[in-house]
Amino acid sequence: MAPSRPAAAPPAALPVPGKDPFDIDLVFRLLRQAVAGLPKAAMFELRDRGFASPFEQLVAALVSARTRDETTIPVCLRLFALARTPEAMAALPEEMIIEALHGATFPEPKARDIRALSARIAEAGAVPDTMEGLTALRGVGPKIAALTLGVGFGRPAISVDIHVHRIANRWGYVATSTPERSMQALALVLPERYWIEINERLVPFGKSVCTGERPKCSTCLLLRQCRQVGVTTHR
Ligand code: SF4
Repeated sequence: MAPSRPAAAPPAALPVPGKDPFDIDLVFRLLRQAVAGLPKAAMFELRDRGFASPFEQLVAALVSARTRDETTIPVCLRLFALARTPEAMAALPEEMIIEALHGATFPEPKARDIRALSARIAEAGAVPDTMEGLTALRGVGPKIAALTLGVGFGRPAISVDIHVHRIANRWGYVATSTPERSMQALALVLPERYWIEINERLVPFGKSVCTGERPKCSTCLLLRQCRQVGVTTHR
């Protein structure tokens, strides 16, 4: 359930000379335009290729932790060619999972976690569909759980990675110091209809436009809305 909304307006709602009022609906329309044609974030690419079940999304989110999307996608395709259900995954020898995870970060611990959670889910009969249930699985943190809930179950959940955290702060939409705090702050101000989509749009946008170093502000479609908080140099 969404936390209750605060009385105070988000920082981006304050008037700034030379900027338009921050309109989140307009921002999302512009974002969709800005990322059209860019490679999708791994979870969404896998969903669109048919690997959309909660179990597949949970495993893919676990594989994607600290691993580039360009690596996560082929690794998951290799793994799902071996097993696509908790029962089949739990039956695989751990060495075979490690081999499939080649290229991803931390293949051994990830293989152990994937096998263990597959066995638990096979025994329980279903993937947990709550944040508490998912984070009770070993190796599953709030970000992985939010991706599983959002992309796998279609439930409103905000997954905040470094791109979402950085860009929401640059907009002035939140003012936080960590992705975890951004997740909490966004839950208070972001309309629920954008909770899943924010990750889908901001990952490619953050890789190509609003990059960590020298974002491309001068050609950015969001320049009129964005408060450019903390941006000292840009292209
Ligand atoms: S104007 Fe600059 S800081 Fe703002 S979203 Fe665009 S690239 Fe990022």
